[in-house]
Amino acid sequence: MKHGSILVTGGAGYIGSHVALQLRARGERVLILDDLSRGFRQAALDTPLIVGAVADRERVRGVLHEHGVDTVMHFAAHTIVPESVREPLKYYRNNTCATGALLECCLEAQVRHFVFSSSAAVYGVPAEGFAAESTPTAPINPYGTSKLMSEWMLADVARAASLRYVALRYFNVAGSDTGGRIGQATPNATLLIKVACEAALGKRAHVAIFGTDYPTPDGTGVRDYIHVEDLAAAHVDALSYLRGGGACITLNVGYGHGYSVRQVLESVERVSGKRLAVREEPRRAGDPGALVARADRIRAELLWRPRLDDLDGIVRSALAWEERLLRDPW
Ligand code: UDP
Repeated sequence: MKHGSILVTGGAGYIGSHVALQLRARGERVLILDDLSRGFRQAALDTPLIVGAVADRERVRGVLHEHGVDTVMHFAAHTIVPESVREPLKYYRNNTCATGALLECCLEAQVRHFVFSSSAAVYGVPAEGFAAESTPTAPINPYGTSKLMSEWMLADVARAASLRYVALRYFNVAGSDTGGRIGQATPNATLLIKVACEAALGKRAHVAIFGTDYPTPDGTGVRDYIHVEDLAAAHVDALSYLRGGGACITLNVGYGHGYSVRQVLESVERVSGKRLAVREEPRRAGDPGALVARADRIRAELLWRPRLDDLDGIVRSALAWEERLLRDPW
């Protein structure tokens, strides 16, 4: 059967651009919709880029029809937890309401498959620090709530219409394209591995550890860091699953084990050969202590096989990307 085009919203952003690249490498017809508010034109590489907003119904309707889109992969979102705590309505507008608008257009255009970029932030602070898909959702910040509300809309829409979806709850994504073409280019980055790599290269004076009094082995926050290429591969697997007739499903994407902030900083020091200036600071608003995936289900359902589960390897690719940005800023 001949497949339609794939619309990747937010495909000029960090994760969406890696997914678009892998889809193209598989010979798929891909187009990117991105308003470039946080994304970068360069990140689209040679994938056709439509500059526009997901919430612009007229525009999205036109794109879905003109390009014969039968699959939407939806990444466009604001993703900074502390910002969501300060400006919650911005997150509900840009993440939740925009997803609702996009879903309306998808139903009108009879889009068949939808892959949604969700987040482990929907779990809040799970008992023992581990979250399976069956763990009750209880977000503790507006970012997580904005994603959970989108998941609920998606589930209701799928019950009422023929659209089928995979919602992927990402744990902590890091690293960059092993071909060195794209990576995370956000200015004023807040994500730990990027911040630490910037510090190792002298772009920042120091790295802060936000909280040393969590109930974790060394008192610092524990997360399940996953290489962006393994995450991107999960989306390609989700597409195969949906095309194969798979039922609507929500899945964690993580490796199933965690590292503390201190372990991450040690890895950055090991890989870069630099000593980091570290400052211990109070906990950051909206942060759980430990958040690690129970990640068996995605292997069973999507046959996802991660290849890059190695903290030093993730850090190495993140550092290589920061070095490239130093030479050739985006
Ligand atoms: N963190 C930190 N210093 C930083 C950035 C993050 O100590 O400059 C900690 C944060 O409190 C959390 C972990 O590192 O425990 C991962 O945070 P990040 O912002 O990378 O991702 P999040 O888990 O918030 O999505």
